[in-house]
Amino acid sequence: MDRKTFITNTAITSGALLTSPLLSYCKAADENSFPVVDLHVHTTKEFTIEKILEIGEKNHVKFGIVDHPVSWALKDDNDLEKYIQNLRKYPVYIGLQPTYLGWSKNYSAELIAQLDYILMDPQMVPMGNGDTWRIWEFDTYIDDTEDFMKRYMDYALEVLNTEPITIFGWPLFLPVCIARDYYQLWTDERMQLIITAAKKRNIAIEINDMAHTPHEEFILKAKAQGLKFTFGSDARTNNIAGRLAYCKRIAKKCDLKEADFYIPKMTTQKS
Ligand SMILES: [Zn+2]
Repeated sequence: MDRKTFITNTAITSGALLTSPLLSYCKAADENSFPVVDLHVHTTKEFTIEKILEIGEKNHVKFGIVDHPVSWALKDDNDLEKYIQNLRKYPVYIGLQPTYLGWSKNYSAELIAQLDYILMDPQMVPMGNGDTWRIWEFDTYIDDTEDFMKRYMDYALEVLNTEPITIFGWPLFLPVCIARDYYQLWTDERMQLIITAAKKRNIAIEINDMAHTPHEEFILKAKAQGLKFTFGSDARTNNIAGRLAYCKRIAKKCDLKEADFYIPKMTTQKS
């Protein structure tokens, strides 16, 4: 199908697809008062889309796929188009997880608009000397915690203020070596800066099942200010995808309801 035919077909079908039966499927299948949708799943050679769908059916979870642009997998328009066209055949949300500032310049706006959502996290923090902390790595070393927090906040706010994203991933996650100070480091002031920036651009907050962040206090603060949430496992294997144990537990504790969640619109055709 060429692009023009595709756009025409999408225009015809997307109206019907916006009220996807998949959402009610998820709700009906679960006793929770919120939809169980895992919007943070990566495919690998072994962890295929077929396997992901099998888990979804078995455990009554709906999935969104987020692979990485440029330096990782999707180098250019051609790669992104193939990625979208391939996923469009399946009943999943089609997302993208960029990992660095300015990523969107590598793709045409028309193609980016075909994605259902874009999830970005602030995990590659500039050190200020040209190097980067990759804070998910176990051996990340933080010499001066306050200096790190200042740079981390600056980077997180830059992501929230400037990047064309819909979901803020891995919120409030800290490198392992300083994670024990989580509750002291996430001051009211820092939390509020994140919330205000996200709110200004209607960016949803991911509740991350791998990191167990953010915590109750942040969720309640963000909820009171009208922010929406998503669940994300960051899974690349079948024992983690859709498990969402932390997400469900904290969502219940914070009394999150369906209206507190951001569910992407399926902007592209599913067959
Ligand atoms: Zn990820």
